[in-house]
Parts: sequence; C-alpha cells; structure tokens
Amino acid sequence: MKTAIINARIFDGKQSIGVKTVLIDGETIVSIGGEVPDDAVIRDAEGGMLLPGLIDAHVHTSVEGLRDALKFGVTTELEMMGGFTKAGREKQLSGMEDIADVFSAGMGVTASGGHPDELMPGDGEIPEFVLKELANMSEEDRNAMLAAHAHDHEELPELTNANEARSFVAEQVRQGADYIKIMIEEGSVLAAPGLPVLSEEILRAAVEEAHNQGKLVLAHVLTADSSREAIEIGVDGLAHLFIDRPASTPELVDQIAGSGAFVTPCLVLNSSIIGNTASEMADDPRVKEKLSEEWIDTLKSSFNTYPQGSMEDNFRNVMDLHRAGVDILVGTDVSVPVPTLGGLAHGVSVHHEMQLLVEAGFTPVEALQSATAKTARRFNLNDRGRIAEGVRADLVLVDGDPTTKISDTLSIREVWIRGKSVYGSEVQG
Ligand SMILES: [Zn+2]
Repeated sequence: MKTAIINARIFDGKQSIGVKTVLIDGETIVSIGGEVPDDAVIRDAEGGMLLPGLIDAHVHTSVEGLRDALKFGVTTELEMMGGFTKAGREKQLSGMEDIADVFSAGMGVTASGGHPDELMPGDGEIPEFVLKELANMSEEDRNAMLAAHAHDHEELPELTNANEARSFVAEQVRQGADYIKIMIEEGSVLAAPGLPVLSEEILRAAVEEAHNQGKLVLAHVLTADSSREAIEIGVDGLAHLFIDRPASTPELVDQIAGSGAFVTPCLVLNSSIIGNTASEMADDPRVKEKLSEEWIDTLKSSFNTYPQGSMEDNFRNVMDLHRAGVDILVGTDVSVPVPTLGGLAHGVSVHHEMQLLVEAGFTPVEALQSATAKTARRFNLNDRGRIAEGVRADLVLVDGDPTTKISDTLSIREVWIRGKSVYGSEVQG
C-alpha cells in the first residue's frame, strides 16, 4: 500500500526542507518531493510539520512503556539495561504492532549490590504495576516477563576479576545485546552513598571485550569524577550528564570532546533528582489524555535525592559540551511508574527533554536533531532518524512549527511506524 503525505512542511532530521510530498510504500519512504501515484492513499497534512519518528536514547522499558512511547511519536526506545535484547524481543514482542521499536544493552556491568539495586523496591519483590501487567498475559509471556524483571542477586553474577567481566560481556552479546552498559555509581547523588563500584581494571576489561565484539559502550555516570573515569577507560558515550559542576569542569569538557564520546544528558532526570516535578507536562491536555493515572502521578513527583544541585549548573554543563562539539542526544532514563522514580514518563519525557535543551540554549532545530538524526547516527541505526529515501517510514505529523516553537512537538496529529498509521485521524482521499 502507498500513502502520500502532502502539503506538510518537512523537518528531515537535520533541517527544514520546505513543503514536500512524502511517499510511503509499505514500510519505507520511497520518495520526497516526487509525483503522487494514482494508487496512493492521500493524507493532506496542510498546516502541519512532518518529523522523523523521535528516538529516546535512554530508557528501561516494558510493553506498556513502548506503547505509551509510540502515542507520543517516539518510534524507537534505546534501553540502557533491561530485557529487550534480540532474545527478549523475540520472546516478548513478536507480532505486536502498536509499540515503539526497541534495542537494549541487556544486563549492565555492575558490582554485586551496586547500582541500580538501590532503586528497586525490596529484595526480589515484584512491583505492583508489573503484577497487573502479568495478570493479562499468557503463561509463556508471563515467564518471559518475569525473567526480564528478575532483579534477584542470583541473576547478576559477581564480577571479581577482568576475565569474569569479559565473559559477562560476551554473554550479553550472545543474548543479543545491541550495546553494552557499565555502571560507575557510588550513590552520592542518589541518596545511597557508599554503593559498591567495580574496579577500574574490571571495567576496562568489560569495555575492551565489548569493543572486540564490535559493540558500543555506554556508561552510567552522574558526577564529574565518574564521568572522567568513564572517558579514561574508553567508553563511547555517557548515558547521563554530570549533575555537579566542580572547578575542573572545563578540563572535563575538553577531555570528553577530545575522546569523541557523545553525551545523553537526561536533563529531565537531573531535574527530578534536584527535586523538580514534571507537573506542568502532566497538566498539559496534550499529555493528560494519553496517560494512565499512575503515570500522571509519577510525572507529578520527583527523585529529590540531591536538592543541593541546580538546573543552572546542568544547563551550563550541557551548553559547554555542546559548544565544544560533543554530540548531545535526547534521552530520559524513564522506567516504571513509581513516584520515587518520578518526573518521568515514556514518550512525554522526550518532549520535555527537548524543551529543557532549548531552555539551556539549544535552538529548537538542534533539539530536534538530538532526538532524531544525531542519535540514529551515533547508534549506527542507519534505517531511521531521518526523512529520506529508503529509510523506515517512522514519522510524526504535528500541528504548528517545532523548528521555531519546540513545545509544538506535543501537538501530535498522526504517528506512523514502519509505514503503518498507529495514531491519528481517519484515512482520507
Ligand atoms: Zn538508566
């Protein structure tokens, strides 16, 4: 089936290219600015702007999370630890169409009892929202889901030396991990000081093995000190922005820029850690109507574990990196609807993150690049993140002009994933 989207202004992932017809055939964009074939279904997008499907470069997700993401035009979620490796996707997601696409790091390289254990409720206890989801599943799906959510200490082997770290990474790759995540978190800004962290030697071995296997390595780091360590051991990207701003920040910025690593700041998370809620987002009618009560409550709360931090420092940190030429990617660290992990929701927080980047000093176009083409390029996802011939037809049609007013990204008229319209108006023409 062919669909021609006509009369929309196009943002192609890098820039606005004016009003052009985008022709979809099956799952793929086949032409831009060409003729409309007789057999195409016509979608008149007058007054709207067409964007590539948005990408969230830092999530921990579920079927519910992937479904919510898609409602907000987020057509790809990149899981930074979780169950949706290739094996997990085959078990849990095959045949599902109303969900965002997902890639995953599998299990993270972390110390026994280290991050993110401190965020989990109880010991091996399954959170209530998971139980609710489990009740509606087949036995097979239930078992897969339980495996994915198993946070038992037995699940993560203790890594006591470099060789064990290497075989752990190799095992993640065997399970179909798309990239590797390492944790350097001593807990000071998460109200859990003294968390165990793996030694530099063990982490270095994990990074080497991942690179030998052709995989990118991302680091969980929330402070300037741990960011420096991650860069020194050779990671490809920082999955967070350091929340503090010591006097040595200019040297750290130079070091990150010199290494070529990208940074996914997750300003929405840092804002929550500092104690800010996302209540304004939750009250926006364009958000409210699409979310469950649990997620609305989650947006209206916050981590609040580092109230001494400031968004001004975070804005300065991210702008220093941006001006130094570091690729900044849009990510959120959204996970589950629990108030202590508040200020975040799937899909919504991508829009919020773009707004915070603009508040920090990005142009709206730069913020959009960071949620589309730039992320696709850094994760080698060559089939998405752009509106171009031959790529997946993952598209979002919005009212207004987000290249001048970033909050217009929330005025979603229609979303396509792999050429299929999954949200929006009825077929015309
Ligand atoms: Zn995370």
